[in-house]
Amino acid sequence: MRDLRFVLHEVFDACGHFAGSPAHADVDAATVDAILEEAGKFASEVVLPLNAVGDAQGCRFDPANGSVRTPTGFKAAYEQFAAGGWASLACDPVYGGQGLPVTLNQCLYEMLNSASQAWAMYPGLTHGAYECLHAHGTPAQRALFLPKLVSGEWTGTMCLTEAHCGTDLGLLRTQALPADGGGYSLTGSKIFISSGEHDLAANIVHLVLARLPDAPAGSKGISLFVVPKFRAHADGSLGERNAIRCGGIEHKMGIHGNATCQMHLDAAFGELVGEPHQGLKAMFVMMNAARLGVGNQSLGLTEVAYQNAAAYAKERLQMRSLTGAKAPQQPADPIIVHPDVRRMLLTARAYAEGGRALSVFTALMLDRSLAAADEAERAEAADLVALLTPVVKAFLTDNAWIATSHCLQVLGGHGYVREWGIEQFVRDARINMIYEGTNTIQSLDLLGRKVLADRGARLKKFGALIAQLIEDEGVNEAMAEFIDPLAELAKSMTSLTTEIGMKALANADEVGAASVDYLRLVGHLAFAYVWARMAKVALDHAAEGDDFYVAKLATARFYFARLLPETASLMRTVRSGAKPLMALDDSLF
Ligand SMILES: Cc1cc2nc3c(=O)[nH]c(=O)nc-3n(C[C@H](O)[C@H](O)[C@H](O)COP(=O)(O)OP(=O)(O)OC[C@H]3O[C@@H](n4cnc5c(N)ncnc54)[C@H](O)[C@@H]3O)c2cc1C
Repeated sequence: MRDLRFVLHEVFDACGHFAGSPAHADVDAATVDAILEEAGKFASEVVLPLNAVGDAQGCRFDPANGSVRTPTGFKAAYEQFAAGGWASLACDPVYGGQGLPVTLNQCLYEMLNSASQAWAMYPGLTHGAYECLHAHGTPAQRALFLPKLVSGEWTGTMCLTEAHCGTDLGLLRTQALPADGGGYSLTGSKIFISSGEHDLAANIVHLVLARLPDAPAGSKGISLFVVPKFRAHADGSLGERNAIRCGGIEHKMGIHGNATCQMHLDAAFGELVGEPHQGLKAMFVMMNAARLGVGNQSLGLTEVAYQNAAAYAKERLQMRSLTGAKAPQQPADPIIVHPDVRRMLLTARAYAEGGRALSVFTALMLDRSLAAADEAERAEAADLVALLTPVVKAFLTDNAWIATSHCLQVLGGHGYVREWGIEQFVRDARINMIYEGTNTIQSLDLLGRKVLADRGARLKKFGALIAQLIEDEGVNEAMAEFIDPLAELAKSMTSLTTEIGMKALANADEVGAASVDYLRLVGHLAFAYVWARMAKVALDHAAEGDDFYVAKLATARFYFARLLPETASLMRTVRSGAKPLMALDDSLF
């Protein structure tokens, strides 16, 4: 909670940002803090106790009627969530929402994800469906579906994936034929649909990608449809059961409490959302929200893994400190005295705190892009969000995989066994690198579409923020340890980007060969920026002797000393180009 307040108020002046948007001008620090405090209570008291039980029980599919039962306690917690108004936090007041900034919703979800990622996915996807229909639904669709999604009475899903098409949605086959009354009849099978069937809510609103009969081949021929589990009357009351049914659920590595469903559409009734053949564009509203949401899932897991491992390391007694006993009254020292245990804990901590700062910064830009009074300001913020979305998704989820694994290691063999709960965080974290577009796809989006395609224009906008910080703090000697490496990395990134662009003109594989390492470099550039800003605030308060700032500064120094130098090896691997990857003939693998 303290760190959220620090990032929101002291580093980024969130309420100053909100003041620039008429819709949020009255959101003050007291309101923000009160909401976060209550969110923290809900997450820790209601949702956290469900995490282990959800993992152990998983969801149960009944083939007799196609129903899915969620683990014990999930439904009651969901009802409490809806009754408490949490689903409506960042929704439009026209549809019953509270109209609060997206940034606050994100902070709520970080805590829910720390408590139970599997549970948080049910309302999380619902919010994505709300955003998509809000942006692209007809007035009638908005009037029917949005109040129910906002209140949490109904939940939402996104149905993209089919057995033969995951990354390459252009291959999808689900058909939509015009039906009587202006609707469509959809037939096909989707797989891996999160929250596709469950017992938490009265109705499920599926957003389904399918092809119209006259659709062009590939991704230009995909349309978006809204397909409710129960057809609804205009007054919101439930009508007949629609022909979209769950055919089974997956048995998987983690997030056992979330139902991952095969969904069969057998002439199911649907309505077109947005324009014909423009489904991917419409779905991107949901996908972008979900990408930031997935980064946030990993942030939550990194934080909770860190908190558990840090507590354990202060208690567990093994061996003596290399520099002599630190707890001579005890048979051995707590393991937190050992440099390598500290390395693992500090890595997780620096990833959590850096990730929180980057997520909040991106969410503030998202709020600005949606609600700022000035149009130019909205467009500028939207460019930054577009650039940072794949970075938040992939960098934070890759980091969480490292961090949760380090935290497990801190517990030694006790981390590997179930009892302590930490191995669940590792298993749950793994999916975040895969769904919502794998991290490779995020990196191609970043380098190909967001950087090279606009000749680095968006990257330069982010660079301008960095340049401003360098100018502001360049003469501040105390900040040199943070500003100098940031400036150096920003400079090398400019030349590296040009180099990749030049090589890509001759060989398109150069983009694919560089992209994953390139995204990590941009991730570190963004982290160096937010860590420098956090260090500045901590330095300003250094004389106060407040432990919070002492710890912040030490973690900032750890980040710059031990994690940022990864950029040197990333630069080298990027420069090694496509050749070492492409040289081996396919038949020799
Ligand atoms: C638990 C779970 C929940 C999910 N929830 C949903 C959901 O709610 N809705 C939904 O629609 N889908 C969902 N998915 C599906 C998920 O989004 C896909 O699994 C993911 O997009 C990858 O698709 P794929 O599994 O078919 O892998 P593939 O597309 O077959 O990819 C296999 C590998 O090839 C790589 N690859 C593919 N193309 C390229 C390329 N051009 N360049 C470089 N590498 C490439 C990929 O990065 C990956 O490593 C879920 C999946 C799981 C496991």
